[in-house]
Amino acid sequence: MWFSKSKEEVLKELNVDPLLGLSEADAKARLKKYGYNKLRGQKKKNVVQLFFAQLNDWLIYILLAAVVITLFMGEYMDAVIIILVIMTNAVLGVVQEVRAGKAIEALQKMSVPRALVRRDGVVKEVDSEKIVPGDILILDAGRFIVADVRLTESANLQTEESLLTGESVPSEKDESCVYDNPKTPLGDRANTAFMSTLVTSGRGVGVVVETGMKTEVGKIANLIIRAKKPRTPLEIRLDKLGKTLGMFAIGICGVIFIIAVIQGRDMAEMFLMSVSLAVAAIPEGLAAIVAVVLSIGVTSMSKKNAIIRKLSAVETLGSVNIICSDKTGTLTQNRMTVTTYFNLEGKRTIDRGRENTITGDVRLFVKAMILCSDATCENGQGTGDPTEVALLVAGDELGMDRRAINAENKRAGEFSFGSDRKLMSTLNEENGRFTVYTKGAIGNLLKLSTHVLLQGKVIPITEGHKQQYLAAAVEMSDKALRTLGAAYKPVGTVIPPDEMEKDLVFLGILGMIDPPRAEVKSSIEKARNAGITTLMITGDHRNTAFAIAYELGIAERMDQAITGEDIDGLSERQFNDTISRYRVFARVSPEHKVKIVRALKSQGNVVSMTGDGVNDAPSLNAADIGISMGITGTDVAKGASDMILADDNFATIVVAIEQGRNIYNNIKKSVVFLLASNFGEVTSVFITLVIGWQAPLIATQLLWINLITDSFPAVALGMEPGNPDVMKEQPRDSKESFFAGGAALHIVFGGLLIGALAICAYWYGYHEHGFSPLDDHIPVSVVEYARTMAFMVLVICQLFYALAVRSSSRSVFQIGIFSNKYLVGAIVLGMLLQLAVIGIPFMQRAFHLQMPDLHGWTIVVIFGLVPLVLNEFSKIFVRARLKKA
Ligand code: ATP
Repeated sequence: MWFSKSKEEVLKELNVDPLLGLSEADAKARLKKYGYNKLRGQKKKNVVQLFFAQLNDWLIYILLAAVVITLFMGEYMDAVIIILVIMTNAVLGVVQEVRAGKAIEALQKMSVPRALVRRDGVVKEVDSEKIVPGDILILDAGRFIVADVRLTESANLQTEESLLTGESVPSEKDESCVYDNPKTPLGDRANTAFMSTLVTSGRGVGVVVETGMKTEVGKIANLIIRAKKPRTPLEIRLDKLGKTLGMFAIGICGVIFIIAVIQGRDMAEMFLMSVSLAVAAIPEGLAAIVAVVLSIGVTSMSKKNAIIRKLSAVETLGSVNIICSDKTGTLTQNRMTVTTYFNLEGKRTIDRGRENTITGDVRLFVKAMILCSDATCENGQGTGDPTEVALLVAGDELGMDRRAINAENKRAGEFSFGSDRKLMSTLNEENGRFTVYTKGAIGNLLKLSTHVLLQGKVIPITEGHKQQYLAAAVEMSDKALRTLGAAYKPVGTVIPPDEMEKDLVFLGILGMIDPPRAEVKSSIEKARNAGITTLMITGDHRNTAFAIAYELGIAERMDQAITGEDIDGLSERQFNDTISRYRVFARVSPEHKVKIVRALKSQGNVVSMTGDGVNDAPSLNAADIGISMGITGTDVAKGASDMILADDNFATIVVAIEQGRNIYNNIKKSVVFLLASNFGEVTSVFITLVIGWQAPLIATQLLWINLITDSFPAVALGMEPGNPDVMKEQPRDSKESFFAGGAALHIVFGGLLIGALAICAYWYGYHEHGFSPLDDHIPVSVVEYARTMAFMVLVICQLFYALAVRSSSRSVFQIGIFSNKYLVGAIVLGMLLQLAVIGIPFMQRAFHLQMPDLHGWTIVVIFGLVPLVLNEFSKIFVRARLKKA
């Protein structure tokens, strides 16, 4: 077992040099040999299985029963039609499901963790699936470990292995351990790190020993029960609504059937009629439509850099009224440049383009900054934390020879950066002497310093020195500079991390600019117009934070800024009561972020919170929408978030909110349309039967209508282009009913109107031939003619009504008839199919239709347009009322 061997042995066995890593060619060859590094999940259903899954529905069973009955009745054509309807519905269902599934899969792929490996001597990011045994994997805090690795280096490395061991306390890792007993339990194997666990702190390097199903987690992969695809609250709500309406529809069909029996109508025919009506009335497609519209929406969001991880986020986005945003990198460019430095000898600026010479105390100060850094910078190209890259660049500009300094001062220990301490320390060895170098937030560093360096001499620190440094820091912060201090201390030997940050000698401070992102100011303004307040949450100094917040229009007065320390001084109640006063939260730690989210939520806000670090996971979870950073974010933060910003940009959050609002509105339009159409069909059949007329539609006609209107127009409505005014509206109240804002009215009145028009057209069909629907002996051709009229009017009304539900206030001309080409396509297709069914003799016979004459066509067209036209008129009043308000 490799964990019982020394790291040298393992490296030799895997034939890899830890400093170079594998060559790309070797990695390719190994990938062929060992296969992709992935866990086999549950098998996906193929198309045939999906097709049969569609048929596994009680509605379909009823339709199949209807097929049997029609066969008994000798109505073979009807049986064929019903079977065709079932098949077409199932095929459409499969297409929708595959589409939605593909979109979600593509999104999941985008948020798969990538691994940092050393290949051909360079560190690069590689798709975790392409990791092979022998790869040299770099591990740092917040990263998911993508394979089983035997560690070759480790510095305070801790990993969380609860998935494997059930133990949530992080395990300490140490590459130097070797185990004699091959049965050492997983939790005790300190020299190995396992796939699917994550680094909670520290750094490490390891060689990959197993990948894919051969890893420890792979061995139990089958035991890890995969959660069923989670459904969004909206899907669940609509599914429930569908079921309720379904029961209602069945009730009505039952009533119709009973009435028909009492009236002494043909039983078999009435049974078929009731079944078809049930199929037409039950909004069984509701959840499917939501899934399709959501998947189309999230795909378009991902193209705009907002990668949705949890579908439920889309609806919540529309209700967000507070965005809590990190400063560095999200509101600012994260392109730091050191401009000023200060020590007890005075303040200086870096003169770019000229030679800067530094001596004595400043040299040691800059040396500390260079050594206490994990970043690299070659030929102006930096990797790692931009703050640290800026320090290296400043070192170069100040004429320090970084390579020589790094070569002469080997790192012998470190205490990695923690956003709660806001400090980082390294222990370096130079000619057998050890020195601790610490850099970080000035206030914290001053608290730990007992001495200062002044003209080459170490003297005890005085209150005066501290005041001088603090005043200089405030001066820099007021100019929106990010400040950082450095200190050092000589020590006799190697000391553990918790001994490093005390009794330090303070060296100096520096200030760096990080300009705001260009597009952020207008996005904040746009958010404000949409009723959304932006708050800045940052680890940085209060004055720096305020200066940038002021520039961006987030805060106007200094008293709108509060620090983490101030928050600690308030009781939970006090904080909850006063939180609405603040716009800037400075010098906060990840724990404060959780407090902020809770306080904001306690005031009834719907909160989105950004985060990138390991410790940000709790606040991301606590927020209504947790947003992580795609570029600088750790895997932990990404895993805890609902949405990832692929470009780390604040402006993308606002874009996502806009899209979220539009997607929700589109879902609403589809649902309103579906329900209004169904309601129209039920109304027309129910009323005519109650007043004793013959049924206005036969079973196959109802199924045909259902097929034409429930599929394409409903999906096309979900693909409506965004409403340009959507960001002028206030956020949607998260408790607001789905049917608020006129939706219920649209369904009921729209449905009633369509039903009434169909009945009138039906009556007209009789009247045109000199009959009344209540007459006793009406020729079959006349009944068929009247049904054709009802059939045509229902379909045309519904197709045009799709245009009406596009907006509750804007007219079709304002929106632009052709602005949703999918809908135009769906309507045209519906019309063509309608002409086909009536114009092609064989279909006309199959569906028992008659060709209307000129009068008939005139009625069809005029009646068909009535719901749309009436809607247009009602919108004039709506617009007038909105204007007044
Ligand atoms: P935000 O929370 O807005 O993304 P931030 O970068 O200001 O921004 P942190 O990264 O937590 O927040 O940094 C907080 C403070 O910690 C900084 O103001 C600085 O004083 C210190 N700091 C930041 N990066 C380092 C580092 N690499 N080493 C030492 N100290 C650092």
